[in-house]
Amino acid sequence: MNYDNNNIFARIIRGELPCIKVYEDADTLAFMDIMPQMPGHLLVLPKAPAVTLYQLPDDALLSCMQTIKKVGKALQTAMAVEGSTLVQHNGSYAGQSVPHVHFHIIPGPLKGLKPH
Ligand code: ADP
Repeated sequence: MNYDNNNIFARIIRGELPCIKVYEDADTLAFMDIMPQMPGHLLVLPKAPAVTLYQLPDDALLSCMQTIKKVGKALQTAMAVEGSTLVQHNGSYAGQSVPHVHFHIIPGPLKGLKPH
């Protein structure tokens, strides 16, 4: 699938649409999910344009994982939970609705995710 420069997350990265930002660096952005599966549900994404994980260069993937470690740990502390779940969909078949690769961090167990 070709990358759409005007997908919602590309527009958030460019600052054209608002988000509740929790972390940003040169390569990644983290913000609150607008329809949280449970309180504290965060999204982490690379600024590099890629639809799925499989199109993402390894350096951008490493940056995402470093950001996930930082914000995931902080999220557990902030939400006073002892665990969190990382979810990532590749392609609409798998449930991806926004075509810019992103990681969900859910403060708690996977059973909190609602089925599609
Ligand atoms: P799904 O929508 O099935 O969870 P994705 O893995 O593509 O599939 O997740 C997209 C996520 O982006 C959803 O959890 C949705 O609530 C969230 N989202 C969509 N638009 C925005 C937005 N403008 N700001 C924050 N989160 C958003």
